[in-house]
Amino acid sequence: MNFCSQCGAAAIELRVPEGDTLPRYVCAACHTIHYRNPKIVVGCLPEWRGKVLLCKRAIVPRLGLWTLPAGFLENGETLAAGALRETLEEAKAQVDIGELYTVISLPHISQVYMMFRARLASLDFGPGPESLEVRLFDEDDVPWGELAFRTITRTLRNYFLDRKLGGLRLHVSAIEKRATLKPELTGAA
Ligand SMILES: [Zn+2]
Repeated sequence: MNFCSQCGAAAIELRVPEGDTLPRYVCAACHTIHYRNPKIVVGCLPEWRGKVLLCKRAIVPRLGLWTLPAGFLENGETLAAGALRETLEEAKAQVDIGELYTVISLPHISQVYMMFRARLASLDFGPGPESLEVRLFDEDDVPWGELAFRTITRTLRNYFLDRKLGGLRLHVSAIEKRATLKPELTGAA
């Protein structure tokens, strides 16, 4: 951050404000403290007769890899509305949003994923501008080696495992930067 979004001054300092515990961007001109907090990524797992809907990404990062419809929650938007919007944008699909299914903290990139279960309302879907292809997959057909994000892999693995075990429940977890090196610290799937 170079300029203050409040007053426009090029007087941003990184320091711990009085009474605080973490360094913040503070404007030396107008004294506004510019807090920066995690972003929420919201999406869903659209189901249709045992199959799940995945989108092949047409954008970076992870272009050409498969994902569930998901994206950043907008200001003024509810979680369910965000999941609906992303699904419409990326898969041109109408869904009925169901229960919250996975919540995954990603502290190293300051994001929180919140994925809902959802039921496809019809087979009327197709690639939006951010997708190359949109398809339904059985568990055996899921391109496990070509999934775009670990959050998506975890959500899908939870889903198919829960189905086998006979009940879907909320999963709250975290993925740390070093998950592949120290899985015992992260509970990585
Ligand atoms: Zn300022």
